[in-house]
Amino acid sequence: MRVHSNSAHLIWPPAPYAAGFCITDDTDAATLDQVTAVYDYLAMRKFRTTKTVWAFHPEEASGIPGLPGHALQGVTLENPRYMEFCQQLSKEGFEICLHGASAGNNRRARQEAALQLVRDSFGGAGTYVCHSKNAENIYWEENVTRLQPFRTMLGYFSRHQCSGEDPASPYFWGDLCNEHVEQIRLMRTRATNTLSVNPSMPYFDPGKPYVRSWFCATKRALRDCASEQALASLRREHGLTVLYQYLHRYADEDTLRLNTEFVSAIDRICDAEDVLVAPVSLIMRRLRLLQGVFICSSSNSHWALNINTEDACDVQLGINGSSGKTIRLPVLPAGKIIELDLPSDLRMTGRNAVSLNRRRSAVHRWPAGTLAVNCSDSTVNLSTAQTLPSMSWDFHPRTAAPHRPLSCLPRREEFRLLIAQSAIILREMVFLNRRMNTIEYLRHAPTRMELQENW
Ligand SMILES: [Zn+2]
Repeated sequence: MRVHSNSAHLIWPPAPYAAGFCITDDTDAATLDQVTAVYDYLAMRKFRTTKTVWAFHPEEASGIPGLPGHALQGVTLENPRYMEFCQQLSKEGFEICLHGASAGNNRRARQEAALQLVRDSFGGAGTYVCHSKNAENIYWEENVTRLQPFRTMLGYFSRHQCSGEDPASPYFWGDLCNEHVEQIRLMRTRATNTLSVNPSMPYFDPGKPYVRSWFCATKRALRDCASEQALASLRREHGLTVLYQYLHRYADEDTLRLNTEFVSAIDRICDAEDVLVAPVSLIMRRLRLLQGVFICSSSNSHWALNINTEDACDVQLGINGSSGKTIRLPVLPAGKIIELDLPSDLRMTGRNAVSLNRRRSAVHRWPAGTLAVNCSDSTVNLSTAQTLPSMSWDFHPRTAAPHRPLSCLPRREEFRLLIAQSAIILREMVFLNRRMNTIEYLRHAPTRMELQENW
């Protein structure tokens, strides 16, 4: 048996980065002054976030039945100064995306108008984050999962009707979502490395065909995720933090002075030069691209296969157990197999490793589909019906995913995510005195927002 001194696996960050950090910023109750104070600082530090916005003032309550009125507060793009400010942010590389057309329930025509406005003003929708109990929220409440016992539990606690995916509903916009939105946030975790609990993100769920892909976010204090320790383990794990925040709250409502902990956390992340800070869309595009990159190995030869229609640049192999050493592969051309000049004793591990047989071919099956690949210099017969020419590949997706990604959510991973999600809800109830019934919760805690410093 051959003894391998080194093993390696494909990592997602583009060289020279070791890890990534992004923030999705919820616009609930934001004021123009607070947003300006916080974002002037972020723009100065080039800390580009994914900022959610509302296009319009609400016409209806949020939720059926409706939540109390203060759930509807917050600046909208109808304010020309705010619109101008967001357009400037967009020019500087921030992602501006919808948190619903407004803070209240949005019928189809409003969603359509909001998507159009975002496209015209900022060049595209990209990410989307559902707001509260809005009726147009898509696959929300008990429709989050089909896995038991979670579905029954969610059904028991669901108090609102959300129907964005139901063509018979006036709140239906599933087809528009599929056309314009790249990814929607679904589950939450307390893990600072969000990718470690949801390595399949962004993923497609065949039970939710109107949504191209889903991602997960971390609900945790910014200071926890930005501590030296958290950043060090993020690097070590080649991880990614997708942090959920209400950023405007870091500017004092009266004085607009920035919270000092916020400033030092942002500074710490920016000073970590090997941590890529970018909006969600950009990072998800990278993760999606790498879902279509494979390293194929046979005894001591290696090939890289890129089944995407775009080149994969600055791809890295992380050397396992080397505390951060990587091998850089500058360009993997779209649709091509190329031979790699790697140490002969390197063994590839991980989801994108394909081990070839003696004839240097393989049929690789994973939840997203079946990949046949031939890295030899002659044609191989895969079955009586299928032959594969030299240096070629063939991919059959398992589901009729209308778009990339190639990734699906394995049941075990979904189960773990749902446990994490339940733990967060339990924690909110026990430690943060939040009630399960949202109406009751809001009635008892009408204007005080949950303190995100305690997340
Ligand atoms: Zn919200």
